[in-house]
Amino acid sequence: MIDPADVAERLVSVRERLDRSGGEGVRIIAVTKAFGADAVAAAAAAGLRDIGESYAQETIAKLDGRDPGVTVHFIGGLQRNKVRKLAGVVDVWQSVDRAELIEEIARRDPGASIMLQVDITGESSKGGCAPAAIAPLLEAASSAGLDTIGLMGIGPIGDAEDARPGFRRLRELVTRFGLRECSMGMTADLEVAVEEGTTMIRVGTALFGPRPARQ
Ligand SMILES: *Cc1c(COP(=O)(O)O)cnc(C)c1O
Repeated sequence: MIDPADVAERLVSVRERLDRSGGEGVRIIAVTKAFGADAVAAAAAAGLRDIGESYAQETIAKLDGRDPGVTVHFIGGLQRNKVRKLAGVVDVWQSVDRAELIEEIARRDPGASIMLQVDITGESSKGGCAPAAIAPLLEAASSAGLDTIGLMGIGPIGDAEDARPGFRRLRELVTRFGLRECSMGMTADLEVAVEEGTTMIRVGTALFGPRPARQ
């Protein structure tokens, strides 16, 4: 069970971490994956209106019929055949990394906001397109009527400092392509992400504690 008072208290610490690194205006996406609807409620009670989810079934079960004031960001590996069911629930598709997803999102959620996930570590297991694929995917998204609001990247596991080169690269790409949003930084590396110009951090553990094992 998630205690809303704990979440509110942890949020103060996250905000302090942001302030200390110069990231006062950075948007906080509360990553509730592996937690229940109580985590979403606790986040909302603490004033967080952006929720991040990674697993299709769980997202639908937890957030279908949610409070319309909540913005749901899908940040996990996405399969084409899950798009249709997710379309009524997801507001921002952050993990778009290939043309077939663009086609399917455009079909099931016309005009949707998307972000392109870029592989900034060379670890293909995390998903993400190569930087060279950004231009053609932006073109495809635009032709399909989708609104690409920015780029998303996942730092490497390990020392926070190891994330810096990839974050710097991602920020450069966001600027080069004239996009608004740069989604990078999680619990372990949010300071580095702020220093490198993130606009939205995706934070789970720092708000809700260690995640329970998936069922
Ligand atoms: C789980 C997850 C997060 C949150 O990770 P924490 O380390 O718990 O903050 C952020 N981004 C993505 C893509 C994730 O899958």
